[in-house]
Amino acid sequence: MTVERTFIAVKPDGVQRGLVGEILRRFERKGFKLIGLKQLTPTRELAEEHYGVHRERPFFKGLVDFITSGPVVAMVFEGDGVIVSARKLIGATKPLEAEPGTIRGDLAINIGRNVIHGSDGPDTACFEIGLWFNSSELVTWNPSDQMWRVED
Ligand code: UDP
Ligand code: MG
Repeated sequence: MTVERTFIAVKPDGVQRGLVGEILRRFERKGFKLIGLKQLTPTRELAEEHYGVHRERPFFKGLVDFITSGPVVAMVFEGDGVIVSARKLIGATKPLEAEPGTIRGDLAINIGRNVIHGSDGPDTACFEIGLWFNSSELVTWNPSDQMWRVED
C-alpha cells in the first residue's frame, strides 16, 4: 500500500455558498484521513504560484481575482490512491460535464465557479501541499477505526 497525500481546496464560491461541510464530508466518508485543515484568503502571490501552470492562459487573471476574492478552505488528505480518487470524487473541470454524484456534478454549473480544487498528480500534490502548508500544520494520527478501512 502506498500512502499518498493530496491538496484539496474549497474555492471562495464553495465557502460563500456554505458547502464546506458537504465537501469535507465526502472525503471523510470515503475513508481518507484529514491531516491538514485551515481557512485563509490567499494572497495574489500564493494564487499565482498555485496556478502558475496556467499563467499564459486567457482565464488566468480572472482565476486569480476569483481565488483571492475571499476565504478558501485548504485541506490535505492522506490515504492509498488518494490523488486519483480525489479527482474522481471532484469530477470534470467543466461542471456541466461532471457526472452526477461527483462534487462538481452535484454542486456546480460553471467552469469559473467549480467550487473545489484537487491536485492532479504526485508532483503537483507535493508542490501544492508545500505551498499552502507548513510541515508543522500537518498532523500525524491514526484513526481509531483504521483496521476497518484498510487491511494490514
Ligand atoms: N478555469 C477557468 N476557465 C477555463 C479553464 C479553467 O476558469 O477555461 C479555471 C477553473 O476554475 C479550473 C482552474 O481554472 O478549476 C484550473 O484549471 P484546470 O484545467 O487545472 O482544472 P482542474 O484541475 O481544476 O480540474
Ligand atoms: Mg488543475
